[in-house]
Amino acid sequence: MKGAFDSHFHIDRLGRELRLATYNLRELQGSAQSMDQSNCVHLCGAVANFCDPITYPSLEDVNFLKSQGIVTTVGLHPRHATGVRPATVDKLQEMLQWPEVVGLGEIGLDHTAPMEEWAVQRDVLATALGLLGPRHVLVLHCRGRHEARVFGAPRIPLLSVCGSCVKGAEDFRKCSLWIYQSRRKEEVYHGTC
Ligand SMILES: [Zn+2]
Repeated sequence: MKGAFDSHFHIDRLGRELRLATYNLRELQGSAQSMDQSNCVHLCGAVANFCDPITYPSLEDVNFLKSQGIVTTVGLHPRHATGVRPATVDKLQEMLQWPEVVGLGEIGLDHTAPMEEWAVQRDVLATALGLLGPRHVLVLHCRGRHEARVFGAPRIPLLSVCGSCVKGAEDFRKCSLWIYQSRRKEEVYHGTC
């Protein structure tokens, strides 16, 4: 079986989908045994991205994931922007201070949301960027309207907000940028800059 490293793993969403309240990889993998075995890989490690406030991890969760070779980032998905409250930002700030949390993200812009929400997404992105520390990897989400695909992905507004909120170009040395080219997950491109 091939080995693999999943650099963008929504383990909380997977658990919800499988109706399993666990971050134990063996249990999660065991529940997917009906899958075509030719598609199976041995997961050597992963980056778990928590960006849904409803499933933010506890420090115990983060340490349990670490014991399985999974590092954690925390953020705010732009599709949740209109529901963000001061308490959500406080919680995000608290988690980013845990040394075990290695990055901020995903955060970003998602133009599949109604246009009236785009300004709020920019505000939430700017607020979240204010929490970025020098040791954090930044995981950015950038998705255009479905019909516009890659050319409609709001890369310029995204980088413009980042540029005005993050001091110094050197702060961009660790950045994972996700640009959605289509709704098919296998066409998601992953780049670093
Ligand atoms: Zn994601």
